[in-house]
Amino acid sequence: MKYILVLVVVWVGYQLWRRARIAEQAAQERPRRDPAVPMVMVACAHCGTHLPQTDALALDGAFFCNADHRDRHVRP
Ligand SMILES: [Zn+2]
Repeated sequence: MKYILVLVVVWVGYQLWRRARIAEQAAQERPRRDPAVPMVMVACAHCGTHLPQTDALALDGAFFCNADHRDRHVRP
């Protein structure tokens, strides 16, 4: 009976260690953005919606929120 108790304690300890390790790996794989670096926002040249520059579509120095607005800007 004593050995079963020891086995259970070892198993629980191993499970806790494994969970902590998995959580640590997930935190390292998550892309981190430096909060000190502000996100550059741009306005869509068609509708004026503000969006992050990384999500915007650029054409001739103008930014657009989606391909439809970009295409409408090209074809008047
Ligand atoms: Zn737009």
